[in-house]
Amino acid sequence: MTIEISYGAAEVVTGSCHMLKFRNGMKALVDCGMFQGLEEYKNYEPLEFDASKIDYLLITHAHLDHVGRIPLLYKENFRGTIVATAATFALMKIVLLDSVHLMSEDYATAYKKAQRQGREDEVKPPLYTKEDVKAVLKLPKRVIKYGQAIRPFPSIKVRYKDAGHIIGSAFLEIEYKEGHVTKHMIFSGDLGNCQIKLNPPPTDPSAARYVFIESTYGDRVHRSYEESVTEFKEAIRETLKNGGNVLIPSFAIERTQQLLCILKEMSEKDELPPYTHVYLDSPMAIKATKIYNKYKHLLSDECKNKSSPFEFAHLHFASSQNASKKINSKKNGNIIIAGSGMCNGGRILHHLKHRIWDPKNAVIFVGYQAEGTLGRQIIEGAKFIEIYGEKIIVRAKIYTINGFSAHADKKELLDWASKIKGLKTIFIVHGEEDKQRIFKKAIIKNLHKKAHIVKQGEIIHL
Ligand code: ZN
Repeated sequence: MTIEISYGAAEVVTGSCHMLKFRNGMKALVDCGMFQGLEEYKNYEPLEFDASKIDYLLITHAHLDHVGRIPLLYKENFRGTIVATAATFALMKIVLLDSVHLMSEDYATAYKKAQRQGREDEVKPPLYTKEDVKAVLKLPKRVIKYGQAIRPFPSIKVRYKDAGHIIGSAFLEIEYKEGHVTKHMIFSGDLGNCQIKLNPPPTDPSAARYVFIESTYGDRVHRSYEESVTEFKEAIRETLKNGGNVLIPSFAIERTQQLLCILKEMSEKDELPPYTHVYLDSPMAIKATKIYNKYKHLLSDECKNKSSPFEFAHLHFASSQNASKKINSKKNGNIIIAGSGMCNGGRILHHLKHRIWDPKNAVIFVGYQAEGTLGRQIIEGAKFIEIYGEKIIVRAKIYTINGFSAHADKKELLDWASKIKGLKTIFIVHGEEDKQRIFKKAIIKNLHKKAHIVKQGEIIHL
């Protein structure tokens, strides 16, 4: 009997971590992500399983909510093999190192503050260190290509297929024999939004009895990507025309490269005023863009044939902190792309502090804002926000453009799942509870399949 237990991304959207226990005794984890937003405290709870007993860690893609707790696994004596695509391994390295960097910065700030109150004992140290990350990077690796399969054990086969979500992202088709019976299950990982032309759309899934499917946007249909691009361009043109600056909190991976493609198009079509400067102010996004360039053969046909899909005349890379601070002295005509995407850390904070009080400026949100983050406060209309302990008025124009999501919407999720032949049950993971309930109804109504919302720690016998 095979058992699946979800230790994360169960009724929440972050912390993806699913354990598979096979009848032959083999144990595999699918992803081991960080909890973010309101669930962040869960990262400090002890793992609910013995990490030293896990043979394989199968990674779907390199987003922090899918890889962020891997160093914790290492600290708990995981010494198994990590399986992922080459692009995922490359991205995972920068994601984990960035995570360490942000955690140690937060810790130093919190510690200083607590010291002044004599409460330094209460400050939690970072979850892991650079050394832990380096140790993870030295663990046995198995690099896999799309369409390829590995056999972690003679009776188990795992195939990786393109999920079209970010570069290197995959969904997993797992085939396992129990006695004389061969069974199939699929883990969707995160599935891509077909309208976005950066990655190819998700590959069609093969036949399977069970699928574990993400449900981040299982409750809605995205607005058209083309309309979103138009809205984005208009927000930029309007703000620059009025002498303002545009701040774009952006995720370093995928979203930033999407934006660079759009801005490149604007630059080449003379849609940006000549005095415009576009700053990519994120060392991580700069590194991610280099990885996207290196693996551009995985991108859509439209992108992979360009010699440099992400660079253009107005663009500057601000790698150093000094270069980042210098942007503050630039008066107008600047488009600043900086992390983090949800404004819960990173260089976007000092840009918000310097510019969000000024009604001439605009902040364009182009990504999901989890509950409990500063980004969520701003898009929900907070009149004041607090940055570095300072209360700041929100006077800049706030745009929320939803069509850029790298996640499939309800219709795309249903379309993809409908292609799975022989499907018996759909297990819903990786989504907020209310959205999952809507998605569950949609599955029953449209696909006429059994649907089940997976709970944290729930044991599912397959
Ligand atoms: Zn993702």
